[in-house]
Amino acid sequence: MYRREFATSAAALVVSHFASSATSLSSFRGRSGGTSENADAEMQFSGEYNRPPRPVKKIALEEHYCIPSMLYLAKDMEKSVASGPMEYFKRRLLDFDMLRIEEMDKYGIDISVLSMTVPGVQLESNEKKAIDLAREANDTLAAAVQRHPKRLAGFAHLPLQAPRTAADELERAVKELGFKGALVNGATNGEYYDAEKFYPVWECAEGLGVPIYLHPANAPDVASSMAGYPELWGAMWGWTPETATHILRLIIGGVFDRFPQVTVITGHMGETLPTLLWRLDSRFQIMKHTRKIARMPSDYIRENLLITTSGVFSFPPLQCAMLALGVDHILFSIDYPYESTKEAAEFIEAAPISKPDREVICHGNAERLLKLSV
Ligand code: MN
Repeated sequence: MYRREFATSAAALVVSHFASSATSLSSFRGRSGGTSENADAEMQFSGEYNRPPRPVKKIALEEHYCIPSMLYLAKDMEKSVASGPMEYFKRRLLDFDMLRIEEMDKYGIDISVLSMTVPGVQLESNEKKAIDLAREANDTLAAAVQRHPKRLAGFAHLPLQAPRTAADELERAVKELGFKGALVNGATNGEYYDAEKFYPVWECAEGLGVPIYLHPANAPDVASSMAGYPELWGAMWGWTPETATHILRLIIGGVFDRFPQVTVITGHMGETLPTLLWRLDSRFQIMKHTRKIARMPSDYIRENLLITTSGVFSFPPLQCAMLALGVDHILFSIDYPYESTKEAAEFIEAAPISKPDREVICHGNAERLLKLSV
């Protein structure tokens, strides 16, 4: 099966490598590894010149988990996701040691940085319960990372209902549990993070030098433009304007002027923002401004935002992001278990980009940002 896939598709590099590279390398070198006098005589010439390149190392950082006590929050997702896929996702979200590691091994994912799946406690209305659940989630994840220290890493889950407690939890997660930052699932009970009450969290992230991954979630209310079309609500479309708007709120709300060293990561190839830099700047200038920011919107996107390839395994948007933001701003990710690890890995291996760019996207940026090494 491996051989046929390789013959028919360049995208099969990842799976074919393990089956074929050792063979072609040994046929080029000769079998014995002999002395310089007899090496030439012993070299077996196959007449084939191409050897499959080695797949690049990969760190993925939008990879999700859940804990049993938080499954009730997934009811929100069950409104829009069909029951078959939902069961498949749940089995994988609750697993740390079997299906997850097996899939990483199969498709060459070296490290997965795990985060609580949407919506998490961002939708829990009881503050105390949110705080307790976030701690439980972080402790459970920390134990899983301890069991697989070379393969798993963690992003903290934060009870942003109580911003000061959330900042303390971020500090505990980074300093005591060894986490690499935090991932938040959209607004918390309808509140967006440009509000001053969330400044302690930004201040803490900036001080610790860790990123905050802003993951999509459903908007607090169904937009009237989507009313009557549940297909548009959720991951297919609604998350995109919701998340892009949240990032623009952070920019125009002055969060990055106040905390200039903060790094926000967003997934799905930047939630359309890389395509819009020019227009954002042009139309920003004609609007009535309710507040002052120091620079143009695109400046903040280029300096404070990093994007991942999660859930967008397509070259044209990657090419756009590379041209708009530069390769240093793009990080490989999958969105496990909602997307296919196989498709994510094959996409980035086959993308027509240079080897150095592939290395930077697949692991170099993550190693630098998260202080990891593969
Ligand atoms: Mn995701």
